[in-house]
Amino acid sequence: MSSRALRSRPTPAARHDGLAGRRAARRATSVLAPPVVLVKPAPPFRLASRELHPEGTIVTAGAASIGAGRLTVMAGPCSVESRQQIRETARRVKAAGADMLRGGAYKPRTSPYDFQGLGRKALEWLAEAGRESGLPVVTEVLSPEDVGLVAEHADMLQVGARNMQNYALLRRLATAPKPVLLKRGPSATIQEWLLAAEYLLSGGNLQVVLCERGIRTFETATRNTLDLAGVALAKQLTHLPVIVDPSHGTGKRALVAPASRAAVAVGADGLLIEVHPCPGRALSDGEQSLDPGEFAELMQTLRPRAFGARP
Ligand code: PEP
Ligand code: MN
Repeated sequence: MSSRALRSRPTPAARHDGLAGRRAARRATSVLAPPVVLVKPAPPFRLASRELHPEGTIVTAGAASIGAGRLTVMAGPCSVESRQQIRETARRVKAAGADMLRGGAYKPRTSPYDFQGLGRKALEWLAEAGRESGLPVVTEVLSPEDVGLVAEHADMLQVGARNMQNYALLRRLATAPKPVLLKRGPSATIQEWLLAAEYLLSGGNLQVVLCERGIRTFETATRNTLDLAGVALAKQLTHLPVIVDPSHGTGKRALVAPASRAAVAVGADGLLIEVHPCPGRALSDGEQSLDPGEFAELMQTLRPRAFGARP
């Protein structure tokens, strides 16, 4: 054994002292140390959190309210294509019991070669159709520069899935005089979605509705995977209303009705449904759009579950 190893080896007496010392230290700690209080950390989305604001928020868009305990249905075409198309859709969805009219004037398309929307002209037609039918309107705004113009024509401003983390847009919308419909990004976690809402709330806009529209998974049989468990979870985590878009969530007309009923079952506060007078001729998202007759039928099946059963 080397002399160094010999030096560093404790004698039996020293070993005993060390042990006794540690025991004494433990006794002293248990007597003198203050009790340990476990503090649950505040959620990072503190203004959106239900923990700090247990009561559900009611958002109002024109005459419509979202989160008031009754299902709010927003319906209309993916894109506003003509004055006649949006006026007819408005009349038909209103007759079927919709609460709000949707329609895109500025379209976020995956391909730059696809129909991009008719812009200002479409906004004017949409606003006119809304006035005529008595339905408040919701439409997407793509960039901060357009917020003023879109807010003049719409009752609610939609942030599309592709823009959920466009912080310049969120900051601008935080000071807009209109409520915001914030879609979940296709690859966003629930925490990222709620933090995007937090940008709006912390910037001063407390009128925010969340919209689940399907996320990207390995599954290709549906356009997206509608995360209904995520809707139930979001309802527990936040006081903001949460609605579901079964059109983009499934991408298939035949799945819109069952997915709508499932959304109601998990506690969604509303639905956003694409309806076109002639889906086969739609300039965007025709394969997931209902015709007005199919929409009216769906509303009938939802009625006892959503409108009748709830106050
Ligand atoms: C839409 O509502 O037409 C739309 C483009 O939706 P998302 O942003 O969810 O793709
Ligand atoms: Mn669409």
